[in-house]
Amino acid sequence: MNDSQTSKTTFQKLALFRSCFTGLGHVYGTYDPKTGRSHQVKQPVSDKVLLHHLQGRQPYGVYLLVGDQTRAVAADFDDEDTLWPLEFIHQARQYGIKAYIERSKRKGWHVWIFAELPGASAAKARLVAKAILDDIGKPSTEIFPKRDRLNDRTSYGNFINAPLFGMLVPRGRTVFVDPDNGLRPYPNQWDFLEGVQRVREHLLDEIIEINNLTSSESISGVVESSPWSSDGHSTFGLPPCAQEMLAKGVTEHQRVACFRLALHLKKAGLPQDLAIVSLNAWADKNRPSSDKRIITASEIHKQAESAYAKDYRGCGCEEAAVMPYCSPNCPLKCNTKARTETSTRTGNSDRHDADSHPSSPQQ
Ligand code: SF4
Repeated sequence: MNDSQTSKTTFQKLALFRSCFTGLGHVYGTYDPKTGRSHQVKQPVSDKVLLHHLQGRQPYGVYLLVGDQTRAVAADFDDEDTLWPLEFIHQARQYGIKAYIERSKRKGWHVWIFAELPGASAAKARLVAKAILDDIGKPSTEIFPKRDRLNDRTSYGNFINAPLFGMLVPRGRTVFVDPDNGLRPYPNQWDFLEGVQRVREHLLDEIIEINNLTSSESISGVVESSPWSSDGHSTFGLPPCAQEMLAKGVTEHQRVACFRLALHLKKAGLPQDLAIVSLNAWADKNRPSSDKRIITASEIHKQAESAYAKDYRGCGCEEAAVMPYCSPNCPLKCNTKARTETSTRTGNSDRHDADSHPSSPQQ
């Protein structure tokens, strides 16, 4: 990618790229650009791996499926006909979803739909993508991720080659193209990525309900399998309070809420840079009372840094910032009670020490 076409720093580019094209963090796919032969690499998806991809040194393929969650779905049209990707994005719009066309590396097109961070149910996203493909008369088109969830037999799923492989970008391959401008590549791919609209899981729920969509892999089975689900939303292993706060924003105690959310995102495996992206999107939903302002980006950064700096064991379940969002169905409630009872019996109250908040809590 030509650095002169963007003023973004490498850090910003990596955060943006991660927010769209990462999934499993300990394995990735690649291929030999000379032979096209692909294989799996069981190593962390480090910044170096992603940079080498963007610089055109070694392609990176993403395993999108993490448990039962994904950050994106992609329909893989493997012929050159431009009709199908254009039909797909047109039909997606009918459902209120923005989809984006990528010219694939050799032949055909990938059409991507991005989920609101940190991710959405893969089953629901796949179901809606399948409905769109059915609508346009291409039901057998492959969808990535190819499955609704990982299980004992499916440890990784299938990888899809990520866009923006540096060696192919100058040839107009692996780039996003503008459907309103003759499918020409967007002149600035980073600005384009920054502006993509992400689908909220609530919208997927509405589409599924209104259109009575059902999957061969059971949606309810997926939801039930999540350890945190209390209301049908299993957002990357987040407990119900965090899901609720992230989805709706908060009205009070923004800094403490931010710190707690950062801790949950960390425990769910989100890298710090992506947690900050998610928390900035969360801040836009906050509705503080009239004499308070919305938490700033630098305050979010500070809270996230604190959360990621040390190991904190507790979840702050008794904090005023968190309690209003607590769900009686959360398994941690039981754990908290059990721990409290144990502490009372043994006189050991280390939970509060381990969980003490390092930043000033109120605003
Ligand atoms: S028990 Fe704790 S972690 Fe679970 S929802 Fe309630 S506040 Fe959140």
